[in-house]
Amino acid sequence: MQVWKFGGTSVGKPERMHSIRELLNNDPSRKIVVLSALSGTTNALISIGESAKANEDVAAAGKIDDLKAHYESFIKALYATETGLAKGKEIVDAEFGYIRSLVGIKPFAPKQEKEIVAEGELLSTKMFQAYLEEQGENSVLFPALEFMRIDADGEPELAAIEEKLSAMLSQHPDKQTIITQGFICRNPREEVDNLKRGGSDYTASLIGGAIRAEEIQIWTDIDGMHNNDPRIVKRTFPIRELTFEEAAELAYFGAKILHPSTITPAKLRGVPVRLKNTMQPEAPGTLIANQTSEREIKAIAAKDNITAIYIHSTRMLNAYGFLRRVFEIFEKYKTPVDMITTSEVSVSVTIDNDENLQAISADLREFADLEEHDRDQNIICIVGNFSADKEGIALKVLDALKHIPIRMISYGASEHNLSLLIHSKYKAEALNVLNERLFFYEDAMKDIFTAP
Ligand code: ADP
Ligand code: ASP
Ligand code: MG
Repeated sequence: MQVWKFGGTSVGKPERMHSIRELLNNDPSRKIVVLSALSGTTNALISIGESAKANEDVAAAGKIDDLKAHYESFIKALYATETGLAKGKEIVDAEFGYIRSLVGIKPFAPKQEKEIVAEGELLSTKMFQAYLEEQGENSVLFPALEFMRIDADGEPELAAIEEKLSAMLSQHPDKQTIITQGFICRNPREEVDNLKRGGSDYTASLIGGAIRAEEIQIWTDIDGMHNNDPRIVKRTFPIRELTFEEAAELAYFGAKILHPSTITPAKLRGVPVRLKNTMQPEAPGTLIANQTSEREIKAIAAKDNITAIYIHSTRMLNAYGFLRRVFEIFEKYKTPVDMITTSEVSVSVTIDNDENLQAISADLREFADLEEHDRDQNIICIVGNFSADKEGIALKVLDALKHIPIRMISYGASEHNLSLLIHSKYKAEALNVLNERLFFYEDAMKDIFTAP
């Protein structure tokens, strides 16, 4: 079995849904198909929730009407028959009726807000399943809220997902296509919750891991993982092959094409992940598996909104246990640390969630001095095959960035990551200059020296 996930743009127009049906029919394998909400819908639903939270019910009602009008015209082009359209209208009326009822509940709680956000994926999957039914396809809809679970820390429960999903699959052995929602899940309080923005990729990987799929395919609007962020850098190109480790670093350090946690379940169960372009299905895309290609430096990504914390203590000199005390504080506040650098008497760390920064700082001050934090920093992450005996990689990177102030450097923790901390005002310049120097400069030089 395979798991195919289609993102917001891939389902964002009626004709795209028609193409997905064709793509599914052109491939004989049995599939679980994970869908995101139509592009723009999750943002619109979040905005409706914000109006409801601010008790601006008239504004919320206006936003609901606008969004519903979009769906009403969408279904007119999606279905080919009167029966199909009637079914589509029934779905749209029911889901929007539910959104209206949620907005009316006072006081408006986070629970309702999450239910509203979940409507995006509920709408897209119900509409698509009704379309497949109209077209006589052999498909069924599995509600993600019946099998996708997270624990009290927001972490998916793979064993529970596996158990529930295999029971559901055994009840439908004859179905060729199983549709389900990305992103949404239930928490231990049995409430509707989600896997955070972009979470449909993670759903696909969790399902692929749970059923030990042959392959997970993430269908999106670009021909695979590029060597750099195509929204910021001009001359980027798709990478054909990445290892799980390389792809995980890129996703974690900001390559938006994948949710940061996507690779974990696939890697755990050894399921290859292929990134494909819905708009250009014949393009090879990117294969993420155990093998790697020769190229030394593979790709660059940037993670935004980083805060750097600088900790000093003379007690650290020749002492042991100091770092343990520091990290216990981050553990206490469930705040992941991304980068760390040390000297004899100081340690600098970066975090991307500064919700508990004040409390963390207060606890750290009990045994260390803190310099002023730097907010609005950026981690630039260079990923590749940097085994310990390779020389010159750091030189190439630092030489490219010689005009940009660097706050921290991390190299050698793994064989495929070199990370630097810079102020975010230098991000675009850093990504562009690294792109030219690491991917184009050497090729240009090679051409010059090998020219007859
Ligand atoms: P979907 O809605 O299908 O989940 P996303 O918008 O989440 O799609 O992800 C695809 C987008 O990610 C691309 O359109 C591209 O602009 C952006 N992106 C950022 N970094 C990269 C990268 N390194 N390679 C490819 N795409 C990237
Ligand atoms: N619809 C959700 C979002 O916009 C999940 C996803 O698209 O992956 O974040
Ligand atoms: Mg996405």
